[in-house]
Amino acid sequence: MFPAPLPCLVPASASAEVRLAYVLRHFQLAYPGVPAIAIGYAGTQLQIEVADLSANFFSEINPYPPAPHWREWQGQQIPFFFDNPTESQLLSFQEKKVLISADIISAAFYLLSGWQEYFSSERDRHGRFPYAASVQKTHNFLTLPVVNYYFDVLKTAVEHVSGQPLAVRRWGTVRADFATFISHDVDNMRSAWKAPAKAALAQQKPGLFSKLLWQHLTQPDAWDNLEAVAAATAHYGAESTFFILPVDYPATNGLRNADYLLTTKLAQRLHALRQHGCQVAMHGSLGSATNAEKLHVESEANYLVGGIRFHYLCWEPRLTVSVVENTGFEYDSTLGFAEHIGFRHSYCQPFYPFNFSTGRAANFLEIPLTVMDTTLHHPAYLQLAPDEILPVLRPIFAETKKFGGVVSVLWHNENFDPANTRNGPQQFHQLMRYLEQEGTQFLTGREIYRAFTA
Ligand SMILES: [Zn+2]
Repeated sequence: MFPAPLPCLVPASASAEVRLAYVLRHFQLAYPGVPAIAIGYAGTQLQIEVADLSANFFSEINPYPPAPHWREWQGQQIPFFFDNPTESQLLSFQEKKVLISADIISAAFYLLSGWQEYFSSERDRHGRFPYAASVQKTHNFLTLPVVNYYFDVLKTAVEHVSGQPLAVRRWGTVRADFATFISHDVDNMRSAWKAPAKAALAQQKPGLFSKLLWQHLTQPDAWDNLEAVAAATAHYGAESTFFILPVDYPATNGLRNADYLLTTKLAQRLHALRQHGCQVAMHGSLGSATNAEKLHVESEANYLVGGIRFHYLCWEPRLTVSVVENTGFEYDSTLGFAEHIGFRHSYCQPFYPFNFSTGRAANFLEIPLTVMDTTLHHPAYLQLAPDEILPVLRPIFAETKKFGGVVSVLWHNENFDPANTRNGPQQFHQLMRYLEQEGTQFLTGREIYRAFTA
């Protein structure tokens, strides 16, 4: 029965040196042009000294650290893990040195590495780490990119020591404050007729049922709409990234993969979309998040390379980083919680996932998923009314803009069906208009990868 037993834990090598290197690399990516400053835990040569407060936490296998201490930073209450609550001053400025009294290196490593997911054995029925088991849920901070706030503390210290202002990353030729990545998981292209047909049967309307069946047999399905989806995003100067699912048979647990076949005709249409600037990438089938060979075969055979997102947002924290590394993708964009919008790793920029098996950063980029259409309205997730969607998203977009991050939006092609009035095309357009007004730079997954690795 699915999910399979959890893979064994490999105790991590997360020494102070490993944590420092991993975190400082991301700090440098967040603030390009950081001057060479000696940052560390203790030592006479340090210019920025961070309190070492994680004790034995990283040599053990506890998924959760002690509760955070909340401090105000930038007018916002922020949870600081591995803090010393008796120290009222977060930063102590000396002439050419700054002391930071909270262990923001360990706290940033804890959140960014996904430590809780690796060491927790909680999984939902799809084998995913549940939002309900997260520190973000326990301490209620999923909508705050807390690691970016830690980096802002570090930035303040670096500016004091160097005397130079530091700026967050900017995006595109216009140097926009933030980027937006619009993508579409293509699960279904042939099933738009099913719900109304079932309803017609249930309401004992055989005439209507016959009409719908006839339309299904003679006309394209409303969800067979990839070109229309691309046109809808192009309206805002954006180019869509499509994640194509090349498996049309169900998984062993009976859950559905694609309802369509990746035929030669569809491959030709995808080629034409690529010619128009869209990116076509891999939607990993059920089971492939834990099986590198399956993933490799399915992607190579169908020319679906470069980027990946797993179907159902499947991700086994103990295996999937290695699986993606071993199949050579440039980036993944799976890591958001299906249950709730926000920052699963408390970070609004792309990052390199930590591989606990090797004790170092992975070789692929994670563009974390900020908002999925299904999350906004689904019986098991949020059940927002159409006019509640933008008010819920605006603060998350504002946090991302504040720190030069990427808003990653997943809007399934089937939710461009005009029949969907809850999380459908109207809500998509409302969101796009807002992001455009806020001055975002729309980029495909590959463009984000290139900008980040340039
Ligand atoms: Zn999917």
